[in-house]
Amino acid sequence: MKKSYFRPEIDAMAGYVPGEQPVMENLIKLNTNENPYPPSEKVAQALRGFSAETLRRYPDPMANRLRDAVAARFGAHRDNVIIGNGSDDLLTMIFRAFTSPKLPMAMLYPSYSLYAELAAMQGARVVQLPLEKRTFSLPCDLLERVKNCNLLMLTRPNAPTGTLFPRAAVEKICASFDGIVVIDEAYADFAPDNCMDLALKYANVIVMRTFSKSFSLAGVRLGYAVADETLIAGLMKLKDSYNVDRLAQLVGEAAFADVETLERHCRDVCEGRAFLSGGLKKMGFFVADSAANFLFAAPPDGDGKRCFEELRRRAVIVRYFPGEATGEYVRITVGTAGENRKLLDFLHEIYGG
Ligand SMILES: *Cc1c(COP(=O)(O)O)cnc(C)c1O
Repeated sequence: MKKSYFRPEIDAMAGYVPGEQPVMENLIKLNTNENPYPPSEKVAQALRGFSAETLRRYPDPMANRLRDAVAARFGAHRDNVIIGNGSDDLLTMIFRAFTSPKLPMAMLYPSYSLYAELAAMQGARVVQLPLEKRTFSLPCDLLERVKNCNLLMLTRPNAPTGTLFPRAAVEKICASFDGIVVIDEAYADFAPDNCMDLALKYANVIVMRTFSKSFSLAGVRLGYAVADETLIAGLMKLKDSYNVDRLAQLVGEAAFADVETLERHCRDVCEGRAFLSGGLKKMGFFVADSAANFLFAAPPDGDGKRCFEELRRRAVIVRYFPGEATGEYVRITVGTAGENRKLLDFLHEIYGG
């Protein structure tokens, strides 16, 4: 066999496979939880006013104006906030900081599979915490299982299930676990509550958010994390010097200044979620309770792959995750009212009812 120059950990990895980003037009794209509505008009205005000449200069390495905006919204200080090139960038810093061959991490299953890939890059052991079938609730012996871990990833609302673990249970974990708890709140704006306050209350808790979903800005790559200032200062050592470019900083500031648009679009998405969920249940689907902008749903025949393929043939793309705990399901991003209706029509065609 040909010699590999890679570290053995890298050779052993499969690598994270992102959802498909097709170039084909006229399809209904419900596979990567993007927002069906456009970003704030303030973003468009900021871009129109942007001078290309300023690109000569490096951006603010700390993105301080955006840090201040985030801090002001959550009653925090600038030193409690770090900005990332997408929240995936923050995850990279977090895994570099808190995992190693001697420092294992724990994550839920099913959950965001990128966490396991980032752990593999570090040569860190991953403790999988299987969620209960159908309800996707937390295992009752969670604290026992994570004892030797230095990092625990909690996704709330969880992906791909959409479910929301009780806040009280999450707070109890934060208070009892002797390690870092990261609460990935990528979908929190679609949920009835969130855990942002825990990031300011507990010295071991990091809450992360992204602009990709609720702010309709997956294309610019922007995320942020809030935590105790000691944790943020440590993460700053690990980030690329200029990790957030000028355009992203500008767009982020503009979007953050218009919470009304965000809230209106979130309300519309939640209405679409209720409409879709009702329609799916009427057709005999099992639908997990979702607090996010997507539904995790099992068709009447329990064959997620067939559902994915039949929809694809009709130019509708949803997400299918092969595997024992996920293979029965498809994950469907909530679309516009028109897209949601079309999806249900196609499903009627496939399953009758
Ligand atoms: C989408 C998503 C992210 C990544 O967000 P980006 O800011 O686009 O990198 C992180 N965590 C979860 C659970 C997500 O679903």
